[in-house]
Amino acid sequence: MHLNNSESSIYVAGHTGLLGRAVVKKLHNDGYQNLILQPSSALDLRCQRSVDDFFQDNQPEFVILAAARVGGILANDQFPTDFLVDNLSIQLNVLNAAHKSGVKRLIFLGSTCIYPREAPQPIKETALLSGPLEITNQWYAVAKIAGVLQCQALRRQHNRDFIALMSTNLYGPGDNFDLESSHVLPALMRRLHEAYESGSKEVTVWGSGKPRREFLYSEDIADACVFVLKTPEEDLLHVAPDSMFNVGYGEDLSIRDLCDILQEVMQTDCKLNFDLSKPDGTPRKLVDNSRLAQLGWNAPTPLRKGILHTYQWYKANVAKPS
Ligand code: GDP
Repeated sequence: MHLNNSESSIYVAGHTGLLGRAVVKKLHNDGYQNLILQPSSALDLRCQRSVDDFFQDNQPEFVILAAARVGGILANDQFPTDFLVDNLSIQLNVLNAAHKSGVKRLIFLGSTCIYPREAPQPIKETALLSGPLEITNQWYAVAKIAGVLQCQALRRQHNRDFIALMSTNLYGPGDNFDLESSHVLPALMRRLHEAYESGSKEVTVWGSGKPRREFLYSEDIADACVFVLKTPEEDLLHVAPDSMFNVGYGEDLSIRDLCDILQEVMQTDCKLNFDLSKPDGTPRKLVDNSRLAQLGWNAPTPLRKGILHTYQWYKANVAKPS
């Protein structure tokens, strides 16, 4: 059942993460005040009993499941158990508890890395499980595939209105800027900033710079989440019988081109050194957005604008004063 009452209670799982904080901001801006938020220090989503008790006590009507163990290409490679097991546990527990407590609608956030490495571009939702995965993020991908299938299974067997959104590479204010564990955009933003400020004016870029990625601003995916929450079930299922939606910006670019745009927006002019000892990962993962577009949703934020807002946030919150 869709969200049509501003008094409804909405649990945002993972509200301190990049996506969760954008979802909370969007819901607040839209007048939803009855939000249920619980820090991970108070609720370990990997523990089924705690999650069951939490749902019993709070009885959320709607859930946005944005909590996940996430990280860039190297973090996936270094912590495969965490990426596989933590994500499986979080999803299993939240989806089970939401089912048992009769949540009206749940949005499960996945990622486009669930699709086969060689999927035809732009990737349609129907490409799921049609070929082998990219090896560098297979642990995370398998967990997210299990989440999508759990949503579909709960719908099929128990008529639960659980929807899966697959997002492309996210970026935005509040991102992880750790150089080892982050994704490419915040990592390069930080490297370029630090190289420019220090006067060295040289940065290392992992891999060949040739892989192409599609970047989506965090506030846009939050907008998509709320759009989907508010859309009647029959409209969603009409365009997505498998209750899955890709969410992307609609254009991709190479990592090298991303560096150029970052430099233009950040007004830096660093020399790029490509470190070929680091993995490239999937060559390309542009998604087909047509399902959401058919319902009337498109990502509103151009890449340069999103990068500028993110850089302003980075300078105010992360960058050390020089
Ligand atoms: P992916 O989409 O799962 O591969 O996630 P990432 O955002 O971690 O990486 C995207 C692409 O950017 C890969 O080809 C990386 O090799 C490349 N890349 C270049 N420099 C960096 C960096 O400093 N950090 C990360 N995470 N990726 C980088």
